[in-house]
Amino acid sequence: MFGLQNECVIKFDEEYRSLEDYQGRIARWCSGCGDNGILTAMQRLCRDEQLPPEKTVFVSGIGCAARFPHYMRTYGFHGLHGRALPTAQGIKIRRPDLHVFVNMGDGDCCSIGTAHWIHAIRMNMNMVALLHDNNIYGLTKNQSSPTTPAGLVTNTTPYGSYLKAMNPLSVTLGVTNASFVAQTVEWLPDLMYDVVRKAYLHKGFSFVRILQRCPHFVPDHFSSLLADPSKLLLLKHENGMQVSDAVGRRYTSQEEHDPASLNRAREIAELEDMVPVGILYRNERVACYEDLRKPERMFSTDHRQATLEKAFDRFGIFPRSAEGATGGRGAQHSIRQDRASD
Ligand code: SF4
Ligand code: MG
Repeated sequence: MFGLQNECVIKFDEEYRSLEDYQGRIARWCSGCGDNGILTAMQRLCRDEQLPPEKTVFVSGIGCAARFPHYMRTYGFHGLHGRALPTAQGIKIRRPDLHVFVNMGDGDCCSIGTAHWIHAIRMNMNMVALLHDNNIYGLTKNQSSPTTPAGLVTNTTPYGSYLKAMNPLSVTLGVTNASFVAQTVEWLPDLMYDVVRKAYLHKGFSFVRILQRCPHFVPDHFSSLLADPSKLLLLKHENGMQVSDAVGRRYTSQEEHDPASLNRAREIAELEDMVPVGILYRNERVACYEDLRKPERMFSTDHRQATLEKAFDRFGIFPRSAEGATGGRGAQHSIRQDRASD
């Protein structure tokens, strides 16, 4: 885990933090890359929620999106391909007081990281997982990913991708304990901000798929969505997203969708001719794994001491003759011998 660029970030609680307080290094993504907009949204969220930088951590795997933690002036962990989620879970179980965000690409999350993704949904730890989905491997130069649509020509599929794309929304909604599933697009910054803010406010594992442009390798990939706003289906509801008048006038395809309905969420996720944006599903009754594990008890001084003594006792060698066969450590040795011969 790297720190805060050798700068002192200790701040008094009452001090207001501006956007600059969350800006790390200069982002080195390609010009026009959708990751830039996602970065701005997350910095804005941190500013608006006044998240203490020393209590905030961004975790990533490998890929273009995985450079995210370097560009935040918070704590961060740029880890291994596909392993962002178990790293984030380790951080959260040990430090449930931290605000944890995860940045994953589509190859990162939906290919090598799939097993971690499935179990992270089931464990429902309180964090925000952002899937930067550009439908391609960017960092490794234009290979097809699990979300690449059939027919798209890539370096690994020069005659077009053979398979129908994986649907990350359907997958997430199909896993036991799914508690928050949303989708947005990075070229609508206000809508994206509203979605990630709702995700942050949800207590549990908030999964947000963000359709993200990669102008370097697939410059026209989402152009039909940008050209025809009616292809975006805005999900709005008093218990979900509220859509501003400006957005509502331009994006006329709308549905009143109660995010409590899992069945309708699954139907919406499977739509072929529309791209839903907003909250598909939210269930606040699912318990968080870190609460079930009660880490404050697990990591108390008494608990640690008892655990250590138990571990030492297992491997200690205490001759029976030292204290007799019927008491003290000699008795423990006798018990261990009995167990070993079982
Ligand atoms: Fe963004 Fe694509 Fe460039 Fe990667 S290759 S930084 S995803 S535009
Ligand atoms: Mg990608």
